Amino acid sequence: MRKIAFYGKGGIGKSTLTSAIAAAIATRGYRVMQIGCDPKADSTINLTGGKASVPIVNYLLEKGNCDDIDDLATIGYKGVVCFEAGGPSPGTGCAGRGIVTAFELLDELEAFETFAPDYVLYDVLGDVVCGGFAMPIRNGYAEEVIIVTSGEKMALFAAGNIKMAVDHYQDRNYARLKGVILNKRNIENEEAIVADFVERADTRLIGTVERDRHIQIYEDQNKTVIEGDLSLPVSQTILAIADNIIAGYPGTAELSPETGNMPAAGTDDTTGHAGNATAENSTVERQ
Ligand code: ADP
Ligand code: SF4
Ligand code: MG
Repeated sequence: MRKIAFYGKGGIGKSTLTSAIAAAIATRGYRVMQIGCDPKADSTINLTGGKASVPIVNYLLEKGNCDDIDDLATIGYKGVVCFEAGGPSPGTGCAGRGIVTAFELLDELEAFETFAPDYVLYDVLGDVVCGGFAMPIRNGYAEEVIIVTSGEKMALFAAGNIKMAVDHYQDRNYARLKGVILNKRNIENEEAIVADFVERADTRLIGTVERDRHIQIYEDQNKTVIEGDLSLPVSQTILAIADNIIAGYPGTAELSPETGNMPAAGTDDTTGHAGNATAENSTVERQ
């Protein structure tokens, strides 16, 4: 099981890309679980066709306890198992503490054993890197960290803080920074600015996603672009990023000019490692 946390500034496109990458990895035949760790609890909505998952913290606040994992899990596109940690009402309580509580409950209910995912993706707010939001990287929940950023100053400021938090826990064998995804805002010199950040952070660029109107078009239908239209260039980019992640980050995902397909650089495997798909997994449909 690989456990990967996606961090980044609020509004940068974490949920959009995490969900699309979850859909892409599931398209390759793997079992995927996505855990939204933003109090907004909107991480997985494009995987579930708009069906809101019950946020775990809110469920606990209302009912006191939970003894059935099925009350909290929503099965989304290609069988992706979706959870939302949720959080307290704005202005009350500690959102970080909410994440801790949600993770403890998932452990207690044996969510990882029950669904046996190959990939667990955490979608985590990166504006605050207090102890609570660092929870996925410090308690062995996530092992790999991917930062989503644009070239904008505040996005890079958040990215720098996330890098600092990961470094802080690195000595204790917790999560490692695996790279950066540039989600473009089309500011001047954006690629050079982010390349400079990547170099200073001593990490790698995993891939670059262009601004693309199809993301909103399918978002309005509560879909990722992967579900919406796999043939679109933006979907092929995200698929290539997913292949790059699956292959263990051999390089930067790049577009093959001849075919428009985007195999991960450094690997000749364009079949997508579909080897461990199970009949059960592939027949799980969105509920
Ligand atoms: P976060 O989870 O980081 O707060 P979201 O994933 O909710 O951010 O993205 C915020 C908005 O930005 C969404 O409405 C989404 O449609 C839009 N968006 C994200 N990435 C792109 C992109 N590459 N092109 C166009 N719109 C995008
Ligand atoms: Fe909790 Fe962190 Fe927010 Fe403080 S900053 S209230 S510790 S989540
Ligand atoms: Mg989000």
